[in-house]
Amino acid sequence: MLKLNDPSLLKSQCHVDGAWIGEGVDVVDNPATGEVLAKVPRFGADETTAAVEAASRAFKPWAKKSAKERSQILRKWFDLIMANQEDLAQIMTAEQGKPITEARGEVAYAASFVEFYAEEAKRIYGETIPSPFPNSRIIVAKQPVGVCAAITPWNFPAAMITRKCSPGLAAGCTFVVKPAPDTPLTALALIELAIRAGFPKGVLNIVTGDAVAIGKVMTSHPAVRFIGFTGSTPVGKLLMQQAASTVKKVGLELGGNAPFIVFDDADVDAAVQGAIAAKFRNMGQTCVCTNRLFVQDGIHDEFVAKFAGEVAKMKVGNGTEIGVVQGPLINERAVEKVERHVADAVANGAKVMVGGKRHALGRTFYEPTVISGVTTKMLVTNEETFGPVAPVYRFKTEEEVVAMANDTPFGLAAYFYSKDLGRAFRVAEELEYGMVGINSAMLGTEVAPFGGVKESGLGREGSLHGMDEFVEIKYMLMGGL
Ligand code: ADP
Repeated sequence: MLKLNDPSLLKSQCHVDGAWIGEGVDVVDNPATGEVLAKVPRFGADETTAAVEAASRAFKPWAKKSAKERSQILRKWFDLIMANQEDLAQIMTAEQGKPITEARGEVAYAASFVEFYAEEAKRIYGETIPSPFPNSRIIVAKQPVGVCAAITPWNFPAAMITRKCSPGLAAGCTFVVKPAPDTPLTALALIELAIRAGFPKGVLNIVTGDAVAIGKVMTSHPAVRFIGFTGSTPVGKLLMQQAASTVKKVGLELGGNAPFIVFDDADVDAAVQGAIAAKFRNMGQTCVCTNRLFVQDGIHDEFVAKFAGEVAKMKVGNGTEIGVVQGPLINERAVEKVERHVADAVANGAKVMVGGKRHALGRTFYEPTVISGVTTKMLVTNEETFGPVAPVYRFKTEEEVVAMANDTPFGLAAYFYSKDLGRAFRVAEELEYGMVGINSAMLGTEVAPFGGVKESGLGREGSLHGMDEFVEIKYMLMGGL
């Protein structure tokens, strides 16, 4: 049973227009145990329309508040998230499965966006431009876009919500949020804390339920001016198509196929640690998790031996148990995909160095796995595995590996390890990715722009650039002066 310091954070209703409404229908369970945690409403088009209309009514008054007032409410939300970090982490591990230390880390990461944009709210500066016309001035102002919709995934149940909503709320936008069906409880708890922080009614609404129906309203209702989505590429493409009919702004954080390259001149021990972090965070279920490890000929065997040795030590189990670093995958379907990828690789000649099968705990647990001798013909190369499997390729030259790394429609995160300064610049610039970790595997921070190129998405979240999605630029020409 889930034990919380503040049991009122466990919600089984949605929040629309200042009220908690709906009755629990859809089951939310614990992927580690199968235990039912709660039931949440199955809302559809009508409730989503009501939420959009509430957000629309709330927009003007919210946008008219001073930046400082909005900033103070955001800051209070940040304080409340951090004051309830442990409860939020417990809810997250229960519904999502990630180890509790990672869940605590995600709550702090989620809160960091709220804090950052509470500060930025006061700095949404415009500009004046020297006018080419007589007796006139050109003024450029930034105004909030209006009602925004956010659809979020289950792998970061808290951070994907705050990373989308905080800059928008700071700018004066209002929101309707749809969390993933696997992890609505963290999202509902975050909204409860937002309400306590003082967001006026209608500013922040949340609906759970029928994704297709909710998505259709979010992408077609004329009042919605921006839709932000983090999730799979096919769904992102669909939402972009749907949003075209009313020419909404879209922000998309989609799939990745992250390469992790280790050159002969790398610090091998640092690269092993980096590979562990880049691959096994959240059991390999993040869009920036490396999907392909390329190791240069000269250090290949040393790297694989050390890496497999470290992976073999990883403790698997329920994320609440002390020492566990690998929890369950989100559901059995996810495990089946991993099994399919490993079976395909082995059938095509890859060698299992460690792991390679479902864990003795069964159901949703899979052994942390390293496979070597991987080639580009295999499924693991071309699809995101989204699980704890590290496929290792051997390469010879810099040119060859850069070409292999770029040979994908995706372009979110890439990593490489090298001590050669010239190579560091060359390779970083050649990689067709939105984010590149050089001798470092931890990219996530609220102060830097997160996002991808090619089919990995549009727009950036976090940093000053994360505000761009939520403001329209207005040019005013003042004549007759
Ligand atoms: P995953 O396969 O990792 O679950 P999805 O892209 O399917 O990734 O899910 C990400 C989010 O998108 C979830 O909140 C999910 O409910 C939502 N979603 C899935 N299909 C649609 C759709 N057709 N319209 C709107 N939202 C959708």
